[in-house]
Amino acid sequence: MTMLDQSQLLYCQSCGMPMPSADLLGTEAGGKKTNDYCTYCYEEGSFKQPDLTLEGMVTVCLPYLIEDGMEENAAKAMLEQNLPELKRWKVE
Ligand SMILES: [Zn+2]
Repeated sequence: MTMLDQSQLLYCQSCGMPMPSADLLGTEAGGKKTNDYCTYCYEEGSFKQPDLTLEGMVTVCLPYLIEDGMEENAAKAMLEQNLPELKRWKVE
């Protein structure tokens, strides 16, 4: 796996997807790009799936990681560890 410069790479704070190009960024109301969320999660200032739970997000992301070649249990463990750290799911 290639190591990317983590200080420059943005990650979606909802699904954890890396967003290396601006067209992957979600938009605020009015169309302004946000650095926080990807276009699949967030558009025009609101989440596309506002009722999605953390467990639901694990289920949504899992097939993509498996498609990328990760073993299912490892992918699930990684999501369950990383997703709660993201802004959308973080409980203060
Ligand atoms: Zn996302």
